Amino acid sequence: MTRHSHLPLEPENSATTTTLPANAIPTPSTFNDGLPLPKMMVFDLDYTLWPLWCDTHVSGPIKGSKDNGRTVYDAYGGSYGFYSDVAGILATLKQRNIVIGAASRTSATEVARSMLTHLRVPFTAEDSKETSAKAIGMFDYMEIYPGSKTTHFQRLHKKSGIKYEEMLFFDDESRNKNVEELGVVMHLIRNGVTVAEVDKGVEAWRKRNGRTKKEASG
Ligand SMILES: [Mg+2]
Repeated sequence: MTRHSHLPLEPENSATTTTLPANAIPTPSTFNDGLPLPKMMVFDLDYTLWPLWCDTHVSGPIKGSKDNGRTVYDAYGGSYGFYSDVAGILATLKQRNIVIGAASRTSATEVARSMLTHLRVPFTAEDSKETSAKAIGMFDYMEIYPGSKTTHFQRLHKKSGIKYEEMLFFDDESRNKNVEELGVVMHLIRNGVTVAEVDKGVEAWRKRNGRTKKEASG
């Protein structure tokens, strides 16, 4: 979401989305068709994993709310959570050993990290705070600071050793498509990442890299 076209959320509107448990979310169909998948998927945070900007909508300190980590409270009692499919997507990626990264240009680095620390990834509707995973623990690599996202990806590449051509990136701002000059495929999303957008992203990644056929494993 581009800033100039967006009005800040009203405080009474701030009770945002809540993730559904992972087992309520279907597996992306591209994960079951036997065709290649990227080795790493990277997610922007604001308007990709949650419907807010950390630097304008949320004020630290962040506290856990009483819903087993589905949402958090900020200093003014605003309630914030992931988009509904996020737990399902992260859990599926972990299960398939796909490396998970976060790349955010927010200047509110502490708020973003604190949200990821307090939010949980529930696997079933019955999961409590104790039996679900900390969201932050689902990410293998996190690059959260202002600046061009090419820097974020250069560091993700250096730290992970994964080729740019093996990375698929989800982001809501078209300006961040500049990472494609490195060889990363970026899939532009509009209203948060969903299972359907993961499928579209994987299809775009296969097409761009000429990997639309089955490959011998190993
Ligand atoms: Mg964003």
